[in-house]
Amino acid sequence: MAAQGDRGHYGRQRADERSAADVTRLRLHMVAAPVHTLGPYARFGIWVQGCMKSCPGCVTPDARPLSGGYEMDVDTLARLVLRRPDIEGLTISGGEPFLQGDALYRLILKIRCAADIGVILYTGYAYEEIEGQPLTGQCDAIIDGPYLSDLDDGGSLRGSANQRLILQTSRYQGLISFGAGRRTTEWIRPYGGGLAQVGVPSRQDAERAQKLRSFFEQGGTVDGGK
Ligand code: SF4
Repeated sequence: MAAQGDRGHYGRQRADERSAADVTRLRLHMVAAPVHTLGPYARFGIWVQGCMKSCPGCVTPDARPLSGGYEMDVDTLARLVLRRPDIEGLTISGGEPFLQGDALYRLILKIRCAADIGVILYTGYAYEEIEGQPLTGQCDAIIDGPYLSDLDDGGSLRGSANQRLILQTSRYQGLISFGAGRRTTEWIRPYGGGLAQVGVPSRQDAERAQKLRSFFEQGGTVDGGK
C-alpha cells in the first residue's frame, strides 16, 4: 500500500513497461484469506511484490524489492480464489499493483468468468496516472496515491488525507463509512505458512513497527543485546 514518497516520479510509462513483461505469472509478496480489515465482508488479500517508490514510513518495505517474494501462475492463483466461496471480493495491494497490471487484469477476468467478485485496489500512483489502463477498468474501488505521514488523519481505509477513495461502480457505495472511521489490524495466516499482521495501522503502530524493524536491521536481539 502507499506511503510517503515521490508520487509521479515513476509514472504510467514505467508501470506499463513492467506490466508488459509476463501476463501469465505474478510475483507475489503474500496472499491470504479471509481478510476482514481491508474492505467489507470476507476478502481474499493479494499483496504483489515490487515497488519502485521508496516512501519513508512504508508499512510494507519487504514487498518493495522487485526480485523478492515468489512467483505464481495466474491460473493457480485464480483457482485458489475460486476455492473460497466465503469470499466477497479481492483486495489488491503491495508493492505496486500497476507494475504487474496486465497479469492482474488477466487474473481478475479469469475469476470473474466464474464468480461475482468485487475488487478493491491500493496503488501508490495518482488516479490520473493509471486512468484508462485495463486493470483500472476492472476495479470497483481504488485508493490512490502515496502515504504522507504529515497528512495522516486516521481514516479507516486510507493512510493519509491525500489518498482518495475512488468508487468506479456502485458495489462499494458504503465503503466510505467502512470501520466507522476506526483503523484495525488483524493477524492472518498467509498461504505458504507463517503469520502476518495486515490492515491500515495507526500512525503510532506504524512508527513503532518501523522502530522495531530498524532495531533488528541494525543487529538488535530480543534478549536486549545489541
Ligand atoms: S508506494 Fe506503497 S509499497 Fe511502494 S514504497 Fe510507497 S508505501 Fe511502500
